[in-house]
Amino acid sequence: MTTPATPIVRTRFAPSPTGYLHLGGARTALFSWAYARHHKGVFILRIEDTDLERSTPQAVQAILDGMAWLDMQPDEGPFYQMKRMDRYREVIARMLKDGSAYHCYSTPEEVQAMRDKARSLGRKPRYDGTWRPERGKVLPAIPAGVRPVVRFRNPQDGATAWNDLIKGPISIDNAELDDLIIARPDGTPTYNFCVVVDDWDMRITHVLRGDDHVNNTPRQINILRALGATPPQYGHVPMILGPDGEKLSKRHGAVSVMEYDKAGYLPEAMINYLARLGWSHGDEEIFSREQLVEWFDTHNLSKSAAQWDPKKLNWVNAHYIKQSDNDTLARLVAPRIEKLGGNPTAAKLDDVMGLLKDRAETLNQLAEGAMLFCGPYTRASDELAAEHLTPEAQVILADFAAQAQALPAWTTEALSSLIKATLTKHNIKMGKLGIPLRVAVTGEKHTPAIDAVLTILGRDTVLKRLAEYNFQP
Ligand code: GLU
Repeated sequence: MTTPATPIVRTRFAPSPTGYLHLGGARTALFSWAYARHHKGVFILRIEDTDLERSTPQAVQAILDGMAWLDMQPDEGPFYQMKRMDRYREVIARMLKDGSAYHCYSTPEEVQAMRDKARSLGRKPRYDGTWRPERGKVLPAIPAGVRPVVRFRNPQDGATAWNDLIKGPISIDNAELDDLIIARPDGTPTYNFCVVVDDWDMRITHVLRGDDHVNNTPRQINILRALGATPPQYGHVPMILGPDGEKLSKRHGAVSVMEYDKAGYLPEAMINYLARLGWSHGDEEIFSREQLVEWFDTHNLSKSAAQWDPKKLNWVNAHYIKQSDNDTLARLVAPRIEKLGGNPTAAKLDDVMGLLKDRAETLNQLAEGAMLFCGPYTRASDELAAEHLTPEAQVILADFAAQAQALPAWTTEALSSLIKATLTKHNIKMGKLGIPLRVAVTGEKHTPAIDAVLTILGRDTVLKRLAEYNFQP
């Protein structure tokens, strides 16, 4: 006996290009991508650009940029719905021919009147089926000068049910569903219809999308069945809530994924964090893209809404920064230093990254920290100097400078030993040397470990800055 081959998994991300690639969209894309990758299937990108008033080329580009930044490249596409109009028209013509769709000449005003009437009778407002062909029914005479819409002949009995991959079994009575308009009077296809034809033509096997689409699903399933297609499996992902429990929106700050690039988040951290918003694998909080692909499946997707937590995102990002190579960080941070007006070649940036990476939550913080070495040097303020460069400190600094000049090697180890020896010699605690040294050499009271800071600044710079003060032993 031969077992039929399981059809290859084909998923899609189908954004409408009406804004940025926002966090919710990126997460939906990630789930579809990870599901396809896990099953060695195909991930498709489809741009749903039929809303001409709201779609813009900039928004398309923003989606492509966001997908590229997160490295979720599609195997097929991007496909653009506006380029598929002929195909939609062809399917509409076929449905009109086989009777699964029909022309409806009711004007919008008439349909509104039908709705009002149903409502006044305590029924669900809906189109009353005036133009729906039935066996033995005589349709009204076609009015002159009215361009008809095309409606789908939705089944009237029974229910449309699916076993949602996330929400479980869902069943909607067909009596609840109107005969959906699938083409407008000018012949252009409507939203749900394009989705159906695309999912069918693109042989989509699994649809993972936001749960704001649950209501569309029975309509789409019915049209697919009328076309003789097997509907894909559907999984509806609950929304993301902001930290205040409201639906995540612009109010909560950056919602475009590219804003996170600007703010200095690493794409790996973003992927890791987004995946955990509504999906889990035991208690794992940190996992690689490869592990995500290995572990991802729909039964670990949560039924309840996830909450956006900026602190946790920072924690995840800090982890990825810490474990990145110094030279990788240097490459990513260099342009950010330039943006701050600094010169990334002014110091050995790899070493700077090594010094700063354990305490940075973002690449921008790294750039800000690196300005100590790459930015212009400004002497300590008079106030700071008066407080810390006291006569007592000046004596110690003068001694330190003399010893430093004679050091055989300018290394962190050598400087650390010299600092310790100076403390012993003058019988002082670290603060009495560390702070004045920072103030004199960097102009600031707080810096990372002073021995490492001195190493990176280099002997010439350190001695020059100390000499400018002309401290006397
Ligand atoms: N274009 C829809 C949206 O951006 C998604 C449609 C779908 O996934 O079926 O919300």
